[in-house]
Amino acid sequence: MQKKDLSIYIHIPFCIKKCDYCDFLSAASSPEERAYYTRVLQKEIRAFEPLSYIYKVKSIFFGGGTPSVLEIPHFNRITQQLFDSFDISDDAEITVECNPGTLNEEKLKAYRSAGVNRLSLGLQSADENELRLLGRIHSFEEFRSNFALARRLGFDNINVDLMSGIPTQTMDSWKETLKKTVELAPDHISAYSLIIEENTPFYERYLGAKGRSALPDEELDRKMYHYTHSYLSENGYERYEISNYSKPGRQCRHNTVYWTMKSYLGLGLGASSYLDRKRFSNPRSFDGYRDFVKDAYRSFKTCEPQSLKETMEEFMFLGLRMDRGVFTGEFERTFGKSFDELYGGVTKRLEDTGFITRKEGVIKLTSKGIDVSNRVLANYLLP
Ligand code: SF4
Repeated sequence: MQKKDLSIYIHIPFCIKKCDYCDFLSAASSPEERAYYTRVLQKEIRAFEPLSYIYKVKSIFFGGGTPSVLEIPHFNRITQQLFDSFDISDDAEITVECNPGTLNEEKLKAYRSAGVNRLSLGLQSADENELRLLGRIHSFEEFRSNFALARRLGFDNINVDLMSGIPTQTMDSWKETLKKTVELAPDHISAYSLIIEENTPFYERYLGAKGRSALPDEELDRKMYHYTHSYLSENGYERYEISNYSKPGRQCRHNTVYWTMKSYLGLGLGASSYLDRKRFSNPRSFDGYRDFVKDAYRSFKTCEPQSLKETMEEFMFLGLRMDRGVFTGEFERTFGKSFDELYGGVTKRLEDTGFITRKEGVIKLTSKGIDVSNRVLANYLLP
């Protein structure tokens, strides 16, 4: 029997210190906590071994948090456990998210030996004031030297994360960040706009009446977005998702799995999975997670599949984020429903107002649609 494709996400919830804008599930930790977490995570990986008879793993993504905070022996134990418990494809894409300031030669060599073939470096900005304001732990120079070291040690597939919409950021400083990044020729660039979340220091600081003026306004944010697209295109990067650009053939295989609703298993504190049309998340408190792991596989087996309505809506939301768009034929094959019966009317209306195009069975957001993508996508909610 041909095995089905699977991607695995591993959550490492540790950082050196919390950035001021961050609401991800991450925190500073002690060596003892990291050692204990590694043991619990290994146990969870073992619990899902039965999937190895059905699935072949095509990508693994260590995200966080800052996975590069983990000591090498812990990282090696986790990867070894993955190789022991799952059937991993020889050409699997294996990514580790890293922050400048947490990398050194020994760690990068250990990643190479463990089979890691892609790095994702969190730069966010090349401007020292903006980095300080974000509460990042590194300078641009540290990033540049970590990047050069990774290249020297043979990493030929590197992503750089950037952030626009930072308080005090100007068009010129954003242009400079893009320029300095492109000069290093990474293979992939993710460029997201900052979203200020509740319960972060930024929320207090910048969403009050006074602080708001430090934020780039919506018009500037859109200008930055359009500049990013044109500048990166001129420099050989294709946009393949609203906020993601790559050199040809260097799209992130793992993240594409999320956007195309293929199967992935999330392991670790608070990690989310989408498997057998079931969407489920691990507990977000450590005690809850430790208890869940005792019976993790059964919890997954007994959880309810997502409703058809939710699945179709997600298919539209995620598919429209990608530049390739949504294929109506694929929609009909997947769900056994007529696309036009469900979405023909709304699609025509959005086409007439210039937010999407429909050509030869492919629906895509236009540039005008991307500018207000959340509002456009909301039209694809079903009654
Ligand atoms: S490094 Fe990333 S995960 Fe950690 S606190 Fe900063 S933004 Fe959050």
